[in-house]
Amino acid sequence: LLVSKILLSLNNISKNFDKIEVLKNINLDIYDGEFLTLLGPSGCGKTTILRLIGGFESPTSGEIFMNGKNINNVSAEHRETNTVFQSYALFPHMSVYDNIAFGLKMKKIPKEPIAIEVKKALEMVKLFEHKEKKPNELSGGQQQRVAIARAIVNKPLILLLDESLSALDYKLRKEMQIELKILQRQLGITFLFVTHDQEEALSMSDRIVVMNKGKIEQIGTPKEVYEEPKNLFVAKFIGEANTFVSTLLELKDSRAKIQYKESVFDLKCTKELTKECIMIIRPEDFRVERNLEDVKSKNYFAGKLKDLIYKGTTIDLLIETDDGEMLRASEFYNEDSDALGYMIGQPLYLYWVEGWETLLCNE
Ligand code: ATP
Repeated sequence: LLVSKILLSLNNISKNFDKIEVLKNINLDIYDGEFLTLLGPSGCGKTTILRLIGGFESPTSGEIFMNGKNINNVSAEHRETNTVFQSYALFPHMSVYDNIAFGLKMKKIPKEPIAIEVKKALEMVKLFEHKEKKPNELSGGQQQRVAIARAIVNKPLILLLDESLSALDYKLRKEMQIELKILQRQLGITFLFVTHDQEEALSMSDRIVVMNKGKIEQIGTPKEVYEEPKNLFVAKFIGEANTFVSTLLELKDSRAKIQYKESVFDLKCTKELTKECIMIIRPEDFRVERNLEDVKSKNYFAGKLKDLIYKGTTIDLLIETDDGEMLRASEFYNEDSDALGYMIGQPLYLYWVEGWETLLCNE
């Protein structure tokens, strides 16, 4: 991400509904031109943030800045924001063209400039040949593109998209994710996208804001939140994680000795750890061996294969350790992949490349 100018800032924003605090002291800078995603479970406050920025709600406390100017008291129609709602909210009796032109007509802009802008928007979202159709004659993905076109003709500084792909089926949703990302790059407009789908957030965003219960847990690039989760919530919400609540035995010379049940692991560690700490290993980071002599690390788990699930590109293994722990490992599947030959109940060893684990304090 090359841009670094801050377009919008939320400073110490809190929001109460009937004395219930649904946003707690939110601080967030949004950069000009970035694709930023708010990700979190249902009810964590994502939509409320979007509505505060759009001007449909006001904060209980805190300030919102746009290009350095406080906009707390600027009404929704005077903000340089546009929202694409989950329902798209298209006018059913109007053609695609009129839906897109509507906002500009309301601003009393003359016909010719409107025609130029609408044509540009129609081409951008690849709907030019559908311009005479009514919304109910369009597919879900096309309706979604009309909603986006209608928003971008207003040339907002930031486009707010609320779960706007959730109404689409899986395949179309995947296609739209790519299209939306391309569109955002072409337009250069800042996109603030809301989703509870971690895969969607990872594949589209420049940065992700991971939220939980009205608070921000972590802000980072997709790679950062996946590979360096700040806490257990982030590690478990994004991707799959084997988690081991352990005891720190020793921390010195950038190495940590931790005990998990009967096992002691010796790991590289350059940060502070609490006495109770957590080791996290992603399923795809485990390497699986039939024989102990093939295990290329002092740190490993021994167990028996409980289940094996063929998923096309991967084979997911469920392995029960000798002390009753269930571990998940996932191996890339190819023709000479060993994993398909594994038998339920057979002994297996799991190890990992040192450094691929994540160590966290237990908060
Ligand atoms: P989802 O993914 O389900 O849309 P979300 O993360 O967008 O969830 P919000 O819609 O922001 O969550 O809601 C956050 C909390 O605030 C929820 O507990 C919700 O019930 C509550 N809430 C939202 N709007 C109102 C309102 N107008 N009045 C009262 N409570 C509200």
